Amino acid sequence: MRPYQKNLEELLQNYEQEDPLQGLSAKTATKRLASDGPNALVAKKTPNWLLFIRQFNNMIIYILLFATLLTLFLGHYTDAIVISVVIIANAVIGYYQEANAADALAKIKDLLATNATVYRDGIRQDIDATKLVRDDVVFLEAGDQVPADLRLIKTADLRIQESALTGEADAVTKHASALKTADLPLAEQANMAFSSTTVVNGSGLGVVVATGEKTELGKISSAVASAKTRPTPLVKEINALGKTVSLCVLGAAVLLFILGFIFETYSLPVLTLAIVTMIVGSIPEGLPATTSVILALGVSDLAKNKNAIVKSLPSAETLGAVDVIATDKTGTLTKNEMTVTDIYLDERHFSVSGSGYAPTGALFINGEATTEREAKLKELLLAGYLANDTTLTQVDDTWTINGEPTDGAFLTAYHKLMPNKESVQLEKLDLLPFDSFHRYMASLVQFSNGAKKIYLKGAPDKLFNFAQQQDPTFKRSFWQAKADHLANQGKRVVALGVIKDADQITELEHKHLETGFTFLGLTGIIDPPRPEVIAALREMNKAKVEVKMITGDAPLTAAAIGQQLGLADGELHTITGVEWDQLTAEQKQKAAVKHQIFARTTPENKLEIIEALQQSGKVTAMTGDGVNDAPALKKADIGVSMGIKGTDAAKEASDMILTDDNFATLATAIKEGRRIYDNIKKSILFLLPTSFAEGLIIFLTILFNQEMPLQATQLLWINLVSAITIQFAFIFEPGARDLMKRPPRKSNSRLISGREMLQLGYVSLLIALVGLGAYEMLIATGASATLASTAMVNIIVFSKIFYLFNIRTEESAFSSASFTNKKAFSIILLMILLQMGLTYLPFMQEAFSTTGMQLGEWILTIVCGFSVLAVTELDKYLKFRLARARN
Ligand code: ATP
Repeated sequence: MRPYQKNLEELLQNYEQEDPLQGLSAKTATKRLASDGPNALVAKKTPNWLLFIRQFNNMIIYILLFATLLTLFLGHYTDAIVISVVIIANAVIGYYQEANAADALAKIKDLLATNATVYRDGIRQDIDATKLVRDDVVFLEAGDQVPADLRLIKTADLRIQESALTGEADAVTKHASALKTADLPLAEQANMAFSSTTVVNGSGLGVVVATGEKTELGKISSAVASAKTRPTPLVKEINALGKTVSLCVLGAAVLLFILGFIFETYSLPVLTLAIVTMIVGSIPEGLPATTSVILALGVSDLAKNKNAIVKSLPSAETLGAVDVIATDKTGTLTKNEMTVTDIYLDERHFSVSGSGYAPTGALFINGEATTEREAKLKELLLAGYLANDTTLTQVDDTWTINGEPTDGAFLTAYHKLMPNKESVQLEKLDLLPFDSFHRYMASLVQFSNGAKKIYLKGAPDKLFNFAQQQDPTFKRSFWQAKADHLANQGKRVVALGVIKDADQITELEHKHLETGFTFLGLTGIIDPPRPEVIAALREMNKAKVEVKMITGDAPLTAAAIGQQLGLADGELHTITGVEWDQLTAEQKQKAAVKHQIFARTTPENKLEIIEALQQSGKVTAMTGDGVNDAPALKKADIGVSMGIKGTDAAKEASDMILTDDNFATLATAIKEGRRIYDNIKKSILFLLPTSFAEGLIIFLTILFNQEMPLQATQLLWINLVSAITIQFAFIFEPGARDLMKRPPRKSNSRLISGREMLQLGYVSLLIALVGLGAYEMLIATGASATLASTAMVNIIVFSKIFYLFNIRTEESAFSSASFTNKKAFSIILLMILLQMGLTYLPFMQEAFSTTGMQLGEWILTIVCGFSVLAVTELDKYLKFRLARARN
């Protein structure tokens, strides 16, 4: 018999206890996990050897292979060996970089694992979804991704979106009754919830019938990849840049070849080899790899050390350009640790002491402790306790909740203030779970005497409406004033009510709440602001990133919290969802820019606010946690969800997950995004001119019909050394000191400005001319060609080292800013050692046609390298002066 055909008794046969809320015992679960294996699909991974082989499939390698053949053909065997070593070294470096980036991303995928809420040993708890086993009892609620295939045993308004599995676009309503038909297609198995589909509404309980590869999803696909690895716009732009550069270089090569051929200075093979090395020297092969590695390592650092999981590389890049952050309030700006502190039954104000979820504290009226519990108060506390879908558990000395903090606050208040609570005998029959559209929740219960009641708790305005419908004399303005009084202190206000006669009702629907409603009172709940957010907001204000609060909470509560945190520098403007709905499209754009607080918003409002901000040209990041936030999260340039309170649906739709649910982490991520972008740009500004300079040397030599100053192997050495070493300096480069003091970069600005183009050009020429000049000077003073070439190789490498100091910081290279990146110095030291090896080790001298240098040549080398730094620093200074004069 298939699971959907079984009834409840048949399903629960396996249990020693009758009660599904007991669930499996931890012991059984562990045993079963060992025998069945984890609840996960095995993802396909590119094998390492393939990754290595793939490195050979590239243009540069083809050119180098051609060069090897050419040298073999000419009988230059040492050259052939050196070039072969270069080919292999290139592949190893490429492999290492790619494997590193892939590894970093794979680790991030692991971090994206989801949790499942299960009953085990009678306690509702969250466990790693991979640890689920057959017969586990799983609790589902809106926003959850179903963690395994489940046979549902209880549902409350449960709807599941199954399009990934069945192709059905609309969410399907689920129930728990057995279906007798044999061979039902998946789409009609309405009492089943399938792995990886999404709960869009309601809640439910289900028993696991299949895990891992045995689930319906496992049968159709054996690999899931949730971290996206598409190329980033920046990488695309860089690839395009690389292509243009390569084409120009090839064009120049053809031209040179023709010229060389006509001049006949060089023999054909020597000319060909020189041109091939020029091509190899000028093409900045390292660029795309450096970019991906900077991105991937930045992303991996964010995940490992800074609590932010960026799911795709493009997002890391976009982060640096964020203009506006639209953030929710609860849990992001506040701690999401709710405690009921105030109760209004009528004009009397009760306050409740104690904090957190531990049920210890007392009730005070007018500042005096009281033990008296009048009937209305008991009913209010019971309403909060029953219109509730959360559990409160004490493990050792700590009280924890599993579910919603707002609900948790009411559980604690009930246990804190109700004596003799055991005497209440009742059964919960049905529940309308909370959702941010209705903003209330209701529960149908039956007492031991058979009477049924519906308890409600929710946003005051919603419950005021019910009260007014029932009783036109309801004192709405009196209650509104009380609600405003609490909200003004930044407290969340929740109203409670009851429908006393619900005997006829078996399944709860929203329409049942419209008659017979009795208003019980108001509660104020504190949710303290997070202290670290204040500093983060200050930083955001300085970095000209605007922060807007979009919340479901009341305007006064939101404004009070905004004020306490210092949301914006100036006055805070508040608008509500209802007011927003009345605006025209044009007004919405203006309103989105003007207001800082958007209160009582619906998920549709959120989407529109994000769209309006984007239409006014703002790169927008948005935080959200509910299943209904998914469209807005997808729409935002950076959708951000919360690792702890966020639903699976929100996490799936977002680009970044904050594992500590903390706004301050978002600020850190933006800072990191800016750093990453800066460093990518720096590596371009560094790698391009240093590569061009090598090409230019050959180009000018052929053009002026001179002796070749550099051997092919020497050029390859320069390339190889910088490929292994210098580019890594940019991966570790810390952010500039003014990183968060400048406004966000314009998202439409070009990667390399005209001014930077000019710099690229003159630096290339400068290094080439300095090198050639020194070569000529040494030859003129009687040095051998070997010595002059050796000096030239050193000059080019040292020019790169000096130029590195110019590019690393926008401040003066002669300031303390040059000493911020310790790793850069290790890299430079390594480079110098390699150069020493090249100059003095006999076998290196043999392979690369070099010879030992004297002090004089070293001084010349340093002077030449330094001159590159001096010129570029002068240029930086003039640029700085000019910019200051303009402001
Ligand atoms: P955000 O996280 O977007 O800042 P929020 O979480 O405060 O907003 P909602 O959860 O939509 O917003 O809550 C809106 C209102 O609904 C609250 O002000 C409160 O009155 C009421 N409310 C929230 N949670 C519950 C709950 N679990 N039960 C009853 N009422 C609730």
